[in-house]
Amino acid sequence: MRLLSLSAEAYNAPLRGLWETAQGRSEVAYNVRASALLEDGSRGRAEVSPRSYVTGETQDTVLQDIAGSADRLCGEDYDGLFAFSNALKSLLPDRHSARALAEIVFFDALARAWKVPRCRLLGGACQEVKSDLSISIAPPDETARLAWDAFDRGFRHLKLKVGGLGVEEEARRVLAVREAVPGALLRIDANQAFSAEEAVVFIEWLAGSGVPVECFEQPVSCTDLDGLAQVTSRSPVPIIADESVLTPQDALRLVKAEAADGFNIKLAKSGIRDSLEIIAIARAAGWKLMLGCMLESALGSSMAVHLACGTGSFHYIDLDSHYLISGDEDEQDFVQDGETLRLKRPE
Ligand SMILES: [Mg+2]
Repeated sequence: MRLLSLSAEAYNAPLRGLWETAQGRSEVAYNVRASALLEDGSRGRAEVSPRSYVTGETQDTVLQDIAGSADRLCGEDYDGLFAFSNALKSLLPDRHSARALAEIVFFDALARAWKVPRCRLLGGACQEVKSDLSISIAPPDETARLAWDAFDRGFRHLKLKVGGLGVEEEARRVLAVREAVPGALLRIDANQAFSAEEAVVFIEWLAGSGVPVECFEQPVSCTDLDGLAQVTSRSPVPIIADESVLTPQDALRLVKAEAADGFNIKLAKSGIRDSLEIIAIARAAGWKLMLGCMLESALGSSMAVHLACGTGSFHYIDLDSHYLISGDEDEQDFVQDGETLRLKRPE
């Protein structure tokens, strides 16, 4: 199928509230949306949310990369996603989010041209998944209020962002959440904030506190493979690598080093093809899989819901960024019913 046009534009989405992780605060998601047109008239739409602390990319670099590569990508005939992905990798070898955006928009257009839902092209495993809801870094009483509000809206799995306030204050936040919502299961994400020793102290405290924790994500710096392995070897809770894994090569390196127990895959890091390869590595290694997001709105989350439902491979789903952003619900391919994300189209 020949690609006729590929373009991108900035999409600045104000968040409903302040969003804070150990990597900083956000009030606006500086995203990029793309459109593609194929020779049969099929059109694709896509969105990514580049985060410079993860891929080194920004809204500006993604816009420049798409504009700079569109001429060389357009006019060519691609049999399928992998042919297009090969061309992209040669043009933009180190630009993860830009490549992801181009892959996703091409795949969306291709699925429309073939009249096969993306979920089915990816395996058609299921039609719905359950997501957690992430809780921003905030003082303990505010954290508890946010957790109670999420539980009240049907979320039984909460992902608590930690690390910005030090181990003792973070422990107070966790206890405040347990008191507010004793029925919730917690996933903890430190976004690289701890040293290996701090992480072990915190995780051992968690294990001893009786708080039900499903997994602990990226406790240490993404470059500290030894530290990650050290935490993993001492943790009774599964350790999930996020910022440490962008490519299948990263995934294999982590498996060889026994440096984690699972991966958090995000389309903005790995696009579709590398995500599929990372899934294969995790399944072969017996590792766990999370599907996460950056700050995509509903359009960006749609492709991730197709990946989750199509592959049916994820133990933990963390697709909640559209919940932080209002105004583009008509762009989404899924219905949100409490914690359940259900694909809209009958397939
Ligand atoms: Mg994370």
